[in-house]
Amino acid sequence: MTRVLVPDHIDAAAVPALGARVHGLRGETMGTTWWVLWADRDATRQAAVRAAIEAELDLVVAQMSTWLPSSDLSRFNRAAPGSRHTLPEAFADVLQAALWLAEASAGAFNPAAGALVNRWGFGPAPRHTDPGFTPPDETELCAALRTQDWRRLAFDAATREATQPGGLLLDLSAIAKGHAVDRVARALAGLGIAHALVEVGGELRGQGLRPDGMPWWVELECPPVAPGHSPPPPTRVALHGLSVATSGDYRRAYRHQGRHLPHSIDPRSGRPVAHGLASVSVLHTEALWADAWSTALTVAGRDAGLALAEAHGIAALFVQREADGGLTETLTGAMARLAG
Ligand code: AMP
Ligand code: MG
Repeated sequence: MTRVLVPDHIDAAAVPALGARVHGLRGETMGTTWWVLWADRDATRQAAVRAAIEAELDLVVAQMSTWLPSSDLSRFNRAAPGSRHTLPEAFADVLQAALWLAEASAGAFNPAAGALVNRWGFGPAPRHTDPGFTPPDETELCAALRTQDWRRLAFDAATREATQPGGLLLDLSAIAKGHAVDRVARALAGLGIAHALVEVGGELRGQGLRPDGMPWWVELECPPVAPGHSPPPPTRVALHGLSVATSGDYRRAYRHQGRHLPHSIDPRSGRPVAHGLASVSVLHTEALWADAWSTALTVAGRDAGLALAEAHGIAALFVQREADGGLTETLTGAMARLAG
């Protein structure tokens, strides 16, 4: 049986664009891909829509990329100890959200974990795929752990100023893609496009309806199942004014000396997570929060993550890999309500 998740709020003003056709565009950004579908009667504005989408994605990259040496974030990461910087608006907004979640998750989510992310081979360089790459030893781990106290940023949201305490490396990769999805969705609305489905690197947001009056349906990706086990039933989501993000331990990961090392790092231990959580999907009205929470809950692990998600009313689906290789699903109360 398929599980179906539908939003608790149906927008009464969302009338399908009768006679409209679904248009699509795709491209590459942030080391991954994006695609957008939208319903429109006007078939002549593909170029304008592409330009609007790319402007938003480029803005996020120019401000928050860890890969682009000229981004505002990279420049902040290289800045002199004690220097104070006024951040551009989007960067400051995303950092403020990330810092809130760092406090709320007691550091499971940490935007200042860049040194750890890099040392485990998930930053710009060196990559874990590079010849001769080795994971950090204890000394290197301790050095990276010392740099990641987000409170030392002394960030002031009113003035958008943050301090580089020295060697603190920001990494907003767990939240910036979600923000990019929100920006693209808002830009489309600004062009008068009320009905659209936006995806960046696996994070999605749907608004309005398809021309046939149906919501934008998407199916959640199921983590790989060990031989001899059947996958859990598929989950379909009606993305109507809703976003979904999934973090998992199986997509960006490598093996070292028999250990599975995913790109979600627990900043408290300094190590990639290893608690058997295969994936966490979060539904939220904003893609930024879906993205950030899915990472935070992945790092927290199923039991602590469930408690944290319940405390904040977050709609989350946890998929745990059991010792025998089978997958067990757990839904938070808010997610169970969307499942009817
Ligand atoms: P996501 O796919 O949204 O879960 O984001 C994963 C990326 O976020 C990683 O590739 C790192 O760049 C970064 N990251 C890893 N661990 C954390 C963490 N505990 N808190 C915040 N960002 C993290
Ligand atoms: Mg995330």
